[in-house]
Amino acid sequence: MISCLLCSQPVKQTASWEISWLFQSPPVCCETCLAEFEKLRGPLCTICGKESVEPICEDCQDRTHFLDSNKSIYRYNDFAKEYMKQFKFQGDYEVGAIFKRALRQYLAEKKQKIIPIPVSEARKLERGFNQTTAILKQSDIIYEELLAKRHTEKQSKKTKKERLAAEQVFSFVGKEACEETEVLLFDDIYTTGSTLNLAAQILKEAGVEKVSALTIFR
Ligand SMILES: [Zn+2]
Ligand SMILES: [Zn+2]
Repeated sequence: MISCLLCSQPVKQTASWEISWLFQSPPVCCETCLAEFEKLRGPLCTICGKESVEPICEDCQDRTHFLDSNKSIYRYNDFAKEYMKQFKFQGDYEVGAIFKRALRQYLAEKKQKIIPIPVSEARKLERGFNQTTAILKQSDIIYEELLAKRHTEKQSKKTKKERLAAEQVFSFVGKEACEETEVLLFDDIYTTGSTLNLAAQILKEAGVEKVSALTIFR
């Protein structure tokens, strides 16, 4: 019997054919907890993936977009905030496996190389892991770390305006230029989009033509 990683209740098992055919692994979170994560429903902004009646939302209207588009899976609701606290700040590495099914389903049709948003070395030491690569690793998703991040003050301590006007913190650590024409950035949360936009800028400077993003929450 598997216990839910979030509430410790027993997890209802899926038929074995479904596990092997579609997901290749049993669920690690109970249905009750999973239902607390609210899927984002359309209509969505075609750029940032926010729920919006306009095809391009207000936030996206007068900004420089290095990031071509973002797709987020779930709303960053109170349950998601609690989850992130457990995962990121209490360092519960295991719970990174919860989105395996949702991510694999989304990525099934995608051919682009997946590039996780890095954390600085200092942050990695403090937390013990990078949350984005932790999620990908536990979801058996292949990725390539083509970006590095230098240490800066925590995003959460900055005001929205400061985050929007953020200076470049990423650098390209791949070979001379990126051979890919399209890549997919991966991050845990889309807040203002400034982090992903900075990362996309670096990738475009390295020769990538199209940079999209997949984020779990927004
Ligand atoms: Zn549960
Ligand atoms: Zn938007």
